Amino acid sequence: MNSANGTTVLLGTEDVPPVHEYNATGRSPFFLTCDHYGRLIPRELGDLGLPESELKRHIAWDIGIAGVAERLSKQLDAHLIVQRYSRLVIDCNRPPHVASSIPRISEATSVPGNEGISSEAAAMRRAEIFDPYHRRVDAIIDARRSAGLPTVLVSLHSFTPVYAGIARPWHIGTLYHRDTHLPPLLLKSLRAEGDLVVGDNEPYAVSDDTDYTIPVHGEARGLINTGIEIRQDLVADPAGEKSWADRLTRILGEIEPLLQAQGLLSA
Ligand SMILES: [Zn+2]
Repeated sequence: MNSANGTTVLLGTEDVPPVHEYNATGRSPFFLTCDHYGRLIPRELGDLGLPESELKRHIAWDIGIAGVAERLSKQLDAHLIVQRYSRLVIDCNRPPHVASSIPRISEATSVPGNEGISSEAAAMRRAEIFDPYHRRVDAIIDARRSAGLPTVLVSLHSFTPVYAGIARPWHIGTLYHRDTHLPPLLLKSLRAEGDLVVGDNEPYAVSDDTDYTIPVHGEARGLINTGIEIRQDLVADPAGEKSWADRLTRILGEIEPLLQAQGLLSA
């Protein structure tokens, strides 16, 4: 175990901080989050008992979304916050009290390093990875409000093309629950592209039990919000990442004045 000031800690001196930000001074109303950006594992936890082949799969992170998110942040001039540790360590888009927060099994893979985890060890993962990320998201929203900058929360994810043997036809999906403003605009724009199979709350819908970022930071704080899920095979290389970032830059750029016209872009 690592220790600092006599207290046991999870992240040691060789581990990077969980939270990373891009374009923190970006002026866009869109504030981008990426809960499943990375697949790092704290050194203390080794490989969680899994081979590298499993740790590269979608169960560990959202394949391809990092490149899309970074480009989108740059092109929209939008602040992006990301969490760099694997969702197998702790899932930053799950309420910490649900079983999938620290999954014992993901899709069909058992995660030995999460079997029989003590409540102290689970609390440590939360305190050092989950909490700092969400505290920072909160602080950013506060700071934007104080600065008079409107905030539209866009939570970026990617999904595996085949889950538990079932193929998913959608290229991209909007994910939402209580926001009635942004998801319909986004759906309309995506459908107007003409070449996309668009999921309306597919392959997932947002709920209070299966999500954290949108319910807690978007809905509870009264922000216009949506989740976006892109199919992983479409963003599996830099050309795919670029093409989806370009497309979303254009679409969100067209939606911004529509939100403005509806009076929805106040801080
Ligand atoms: Zn995700």
